[in-house]
Amino acid sequence: MSSLISIEDAHQFILDQVELAPAHSVLLEEALGLTLRTEMISPQSSPLFDKSLMDGYAVRTVDLQGPLVDLKILEMVSAGEVGKHHLGQGETIQIMTGAPLPPGADAVIPVEMSERESGEPLVHLQTVGISPEKNLIRKGTILHQGQTLIPSGRVIRPEEVALLAELGVSEVGVSTEPVISILATGDELVAIDEPLGPGKIRNSNAPMLMSQVHRAGGIPKNIGIGRDQLDELRTKVMLGLEADFLLLSGGVSAGEKDLVPQVLKECGVREIFHKVHVKPGKPVWFGVLEKSIGEKTYVFGLPGNPVSSMLCFEVFVRPAIRQFLGQNRVLPQMRKLPLSKAHVAAGGRPTYYPSQLVSQADGLAVEPVDWKGSSDLLAPTRADAWICFPAGNRAYSIGEMVDVYTPDW
Ligand code: AMP
Ligand code: MG
Repeated sequence: MSSLISIEDAHQFILDQVELAPAHSVLLEEALGLTLRTEMISPQSSPLFDKSLMDGYAVRTVDLQGPLVDLKILEMVSAGEVGKHHLGQGETIQIMTGAPLPPGADAVIPVEMSERESGEPLVHLQTVGISPEKNLIRKGTILHQGQTLIPSGRVIRPEEVALLAELGVSEVGVSTEPVISILATGDELVAIDEPLGPGKIRNSNAPMLMSQVHRAGGIPKNIGIGRDQLDELRTKVMLGLEADFLLLSGGVSAGEKDLVPQVLKECGVREIFHKVHVKPGKPVWFGVLEKSIGEKTYVFGLPGNPVSSMLCFEVFVRPAIRQFLGQNRVLPQMRKLPLSKAHVAAGGRPTYYPSQLVSQADGLAVEPVDWKGSSDLLAPTRADAWICFPAGNRAYSIGEMVDVYTPDW
């Protein structure tokens, strides 16, 4: 399909093609950032027993007559211990945070509200504000056994690690990360640690895409620079096609030396779309190679201009990776924020504009940063978001609501 399609149609084409990754099991301590592939059902309840939330004295609230009471101390129970006594009338047990609540007790008075002379069997306790259930937590009130805790498709964060560890889940099923080859094309390109000759530029796209792949949960594999020459490109493309995804940069526009679509076709990659109604990034190309039944390589030809490549990764490649990993919320999440600065949008395509989130007295707002276009890599370093302006020429005033995408979603 060589006519310009909308961003929405491009997303649909991508989602129609990309299939779910295989799954495997990993140790919980290695699961950070991976995508959960089973629904987590709790093997136990939490907490496992009634427990104190404070260092203090376990009491029966029926004994708390008046603002001050004297109670007899039976024993002391620390976290990890189980007391020997049942609380009776006029009795208390000194208890530490996390220790099991003695039977009979229905509240805990914090140590700060107590006074005790050393060696005395009695403790003086203030009772203000101590009602039944104060400063304790009952068994099973956080979660119960058999409860669904975490849905499949969740990216595992320290928050998930903590809960699973509490419940004794030491291994989890996760999606196998895609290997993603990166091939930069262009006669003008020089590796970043090589000397520059006249007219040459550094291959900044490869390190950029490697880091974007990494952040998106893929395993990047740099296969270097391909010259704008059919045979060399074909050899490198064939190598790249061994991975789950192949990302090329450059060579997809209308120039004489834009050989990427032709080479991909020669290598058996079926074109799904070429050119999207988006700025920057119009020439973006997407296709699929069917290697065997159920085994595919997804190929993106990203425009060479660095900011175009960066943006097309976020808008098109990242959703493909998310779909492959089986994540929830596959498409870029947009939110509406007010502009904190007036802006004139120009152009016939929806435009993603490097922008900065700003905190204002009445909440979060956003403003475009100074941006010289798709070769300006300074602007994105000053930005932490992209405003998506709809197609058309229009002046936006302060306070107008705009669609905003933040890559850390
Ligand atoms: P192309 O899409 O190949 O026509 O390239 C468009 C522009 O992006 C040209 O100015 C290229 O020099 C530049 N460019 C292409 N590839 C890269 C790269 N890997 N790193 C930095 N700039 C690039
Ligand atoms: Mg080129």
